[in-house]
Amino acid sequence: MGWQAVIGVEVHVQLRTGRKLFCRDRVAFGAEPNTLVCPVCLGLPGALPTLDPRAVDLAVRTALALECTLHDTSVWARKSYFYPDLPKGYQITQFDRPLATGGTLDFDGPAGAGRVRIRRVHMEEDAGKSLHDRIPEGTAVDLNRAGTPLVEIVTEPDLHTPEDVRSFLGELRQLLEFADVSDCSMEEGSLRVDANVSVRRAESAELGTKTEIKNVNSFSGIERALRMEIDRQIAVLEGGGSVRGETLLWDDHRASLRPMRSKEDRHDYRYLPDPDLPPLVLGAAVVRSVRGMLREMPRARRARFQAEYGLSSYDAGVVTQSRAGADYFETVAEGCADAKLAANWVMGPLQALLNARAATWDAPPVDAPRLIELLGLVRDGTVSDRVAKQLLDALADGPEGAEEIVASRGLEQVSEPAMLERWVDEVVAAFPDECARYREGEDRLLGFLVGQVMQRSRGRADPRGVNLRIRERLGGVEQAPGRGGLSSGRGAGSDRRRPSS
Ligand code: ADP
Ligand code: MG
Repeated sequence: MGWQAVIGVEVHVQLRTGRKLFCRDRVAFGAEPNTLVCPVCLGLPGALPTLDPRAVDLAVRTALALECTLHDTSVWARKSYFYPDLPKGYQITQFDRPLATGGTLDFDGPAGAGRVRIRRVHMEEDAGKSLHDRIPEGTAVDLNRAGTPLVEIVTEPDLHTPEDVRSFLGELRQLLEFADVSDCSMEEGSLRVDANVSVRRAESAELGTKTEIKNVNSFSGIERALRMEIDRQIAVLEGGGSVRGETLLWDDHRASLRPMRSKEDRHDYRYLPDPDLPPLVLGAAVVRSVRGMLREMPRARRARFQAEYGLSSYDAGVVTQSRAGADYFETVAEGCADAKLAANWVMGPLQALLNARAATWDAPPVDAPRLIELLGLVRDGTVSDRVAKQLLDALADGPEGAEEIVASRGLEQVSEPAMLERWVDEVVAAFPDECARYREGEDRLLGFLVGQVMQRSRGRADPRGVNLRIRERLGGVEQAPGRGGLSSGRGAGSDRRRPSS
């Protein structure tokens, strides 16, 4: 009999307001410990919380992006537990009346499309941080994080493989980025995932006892931890034992899981409504305005890019990696009226340029209008592909536009038959051996000879014209009447004739 794994996740997302949920302190990663604190987030007696409405906007945005039902009224609750990094002795969260419930998120996994139901989305504040390596023989506490605004997203147990969990989380992260809710950095703790997992006989309808995996800080870590835990649970059950409902901590260095606490010594959180905070009431106007600001979500955008611009599903996935990248692509595709060319440039030379200069799509070294101008020159044959790629660097380096640079440096593509003939003559004369070997059937030398011409022309020669002329000269072209390749090649060449400098 086969086993089926059942997995549900709880995701904590840091909202990008830049400030705390109930006081005016800034939120910043890596600041000097305990410098971003005040009486409210330190939990000093008498200090009262005041809700930041911008955090509510972002939480509402999250819930809408996940197609949840928003509740007019949600209630702040105190979740009590004793921990050194929790100064008040309780966390302000939402319990039995959360912000939103009942959403869905579709994703594309390695085994096909999947759908996960979202159980709830609620708001809460983060705790501080215990630092175990800051002072010798002791644990230090940094409360800079205390009070950081979060949303917690809880799914139904609808996932069944570690690979699907990873795909789902990738889709979720992209959605949160598109909705502009969070920077979703796992390294900086602004996206944290706890995974709940159980196994059952494939034919069983009942859920098995679950364990909860915490402390994983990468998607690949989650995949590995789940794989390991699923195997462990199956081995326990096949050995006649039973799974203990416990919380497990993932150790990334050792790639191992160790028990943190068992179900028996689970906290009694003593949830109660927070008397310091009135219920959160969402005005219809707020919800309407947030809904109006919400942009197209990644999956819909990928589908539209395929339908509207004829991109392959792979290409649509690549250009929608980030919202800013998708915006960039779409501006260029519209501006140059050639979506395929736009996609190739965005995914190829532009992405390479970004990588080389450690830039992001939010601030690309060449903005969309300037790329559109460049692609215009490619499309009408003013410059060769090769020169265009060189131009990209020049565009990134200075303020001049593509046309300006082409004019000032004399980079127009040369298709004039007389010029091409002259370069080909020179190359044929300079490489008699290579020409002879090509004539005798060493086809790959064609590329070499074309390359020599391109070099002589400083990349300006129309490569198709050159290719054709060399083959013609050295007998590589079948002169089959009616095939038309040769004559149309010549036609295209003369159409694009431009004065050479
Ligand atoms: P708990 O009360 O232990 O916190 P919840 O019912 O609140 O459990 O569920 C927490 C998370 O665990 C949810 O994401 C849910 O989908 C998932 N979950 C619940 N039961 C199981 C199970 N038997 N196997 C796997 N995941 C589960
Ligand atoms: Mg829970």
